[in-house]
Amino acid sequence: MENCIFCKIAQKEMGRLVYEDDTVAAFDDLNPQAPVHVLLVPKKHIEKLAEVKPDDAPMVGHILEVASAIAEQRGVAGTGYRVVVNNGRAAGQSVDHLHFHLLGGRPLGWPPG
Ligand code: 5GP
Ligand code: ZN
Repeated sequence: MENCIFCKIAQKEMGRLVYEDDTVAAFDDLNPQAPVHVLLVPKKHIEKLAEVKPDDAPMVGHILEVASAIAEQRGVAGTGYRVVVNNGRAAGQSVDHLHFHLLGGRPLGWPPG
């Protein structure tokens, strides 16, 4: 999709990927909220979690699997980490391309703000 920053990053038109395969790309967050803060996105443009269709379910499951693998690589699997999706403005979604935040490397408060 034109003018979507995460489409551009996923297509390697800008930024640097830390992981990619046919359906998923991952990159470090520009403004990290924890020592480990990686964003995982589908290569296909999907606006938000609520737009996920049944056909997308394998991709979403795969993203979670990749998130766990990156958590291992970054050394936060043992201590614990969080995977977050903000859906819609009130939840804090600011980029309209589905993304999963992987956060770790510090204690994470609950409930979230
Ligand atoms: P949201 O608020 O939509 O859940 O998360 C969007 C995230 O994308 C934020 O954590 C923000 O720091 C990150 N972000 C926004 N623009 C860019 C960018 O151009 N590059 C990278 N790597 N991260 C970005
Ligand atoms: Zn996009």
